[in-house]
Amino acid sequence: MSWERRAEIDLSAIRHNVRRVAELAAPAQVMAVVKADAYGHGALPVARAALEAGATWLGFAHVSEALAARDAGFTAPALAWLHTPDTAFSEAISRNIDLGVSGWELDRVAAAAESAARPARVHLKIDTGLGRNGCTPENWEALLGAAAAYQEDGLLRVVGVFSHLSVADEPDRVETDQQLDAFRTAVALAENAGFDLEVRHTANTPAILSRPDTHFDMVRLGLGMYGLSPFRDQTSEDLSLRPAMRLVARVANAKTVPAGQGVSYGLTYRTGHPTLLALVPLGYGDGVPRSATSGPVHIRGRLFRSCGRVAMDQFVVDMGPDEDIAGLVGAEVVLFGDGGPSADEWAESAGTINYEIVTRVSPRVPRVYV
Ligand code: PLP
Repeated sequence: MSWERRAEIDLSAIRHNVRRVAELAAPAQVMAVVKADAYGHGALPVARAALEAGATWLGFAHVSEALAARDAGFTAPALAWLHTPDTAFSEAISRNIDLGVSGWELDRVAAAAESAARPARVHLKIDTGLGRNGCTPENWEALLGAAAAYQEDGLLRVVGVFSHLSVADEPDRVETDQQLDAFRTAVALAENAGFDLEVRHTANTPAILSRPDTHFDMVRLGLGMYGLSPFRDQTSEDLSLRPAMRLVARVANAKTVPAGQGVSYGLTYRTGHPTLLALVPLGYGDGVPRSATSGPVHIRGRLFRSCGRVAMDQFVVDMGPDEDIAGLVGAEVVLFGDGGPSADEWAESAGTINYEIVTRVSPRVPRVYV
């Protein structure tokens, strides 16, 4: 099939990564975190592959994301944890989507359960130090009390307690131990309050890979499922993970230019000698960061670098004076993935993290499942 630009998603890599983590985490269950369209990989195909490979839960930030999975026929247990007062709680409850609750949501969820005429399944979130969502330890017992009253009234069931870690990608930091202590305390208080918890969960990818003591009953697997490493000093390969996304395009133009040729807006780059320039039809409108400088690409199996500013639809690669222009238009350019550089290298060249590099690949780039 002909193509111009595409993100190839290797679902066998997703399955491999889930199996690897499921082995590592057992007996804990694996929640496949497929928010943000599965970090740019496509929520529905990834969810299917992850469940086939042994994941038992699906994780989403927004209820709307979880509802889309229900609409597509997914019946697996699902949790959504980031809400506003306008969140469709009632629909979530009717469609059997578990809700993360940090505080203010409790009254809303109980009211929604009343209108849905069935109890909400709730995971109470404790903020053990990340400072984002989650109930403060000071307010935890009050939240437990309020939840117990609603449970007594048949409006909800507290089935989980969870938290999110802040520095698990830096395994030596003591804050993870402090967060775990706070988490254990919060769980014990919930159990003492009489809740019959199905799942206690706090581990994200870095914690799954480096801290078995964070696994509890379930791990929430995001980045690692996509085959990327959360650690600065370890590659995917070091962790036996397989990157699932490969971003490629065909060369759109090629020309030889003299020394001193300015390239792209602002003319921030000038060729130092006569050289061959290749034009790549991917830009920030496709999710390639404008902040990237010298982004790596492979063309004909060799490494070259972008030059000048990334524009909305395109960027330029300086291929040097010795490359053959014949046949270059239409040749495959690999930005990252199998047979090319890594998303980590693009992250480095753009001053960001690999999470962002894959997640920001925009819907304008066709996804192809291989
Ligand atoms: N749990 C929560 C609450 C999250 O927000 C995320 C993602 O940011 C994850 C788990 C998955 O994290 P990771 O991609 O590091 O596995």
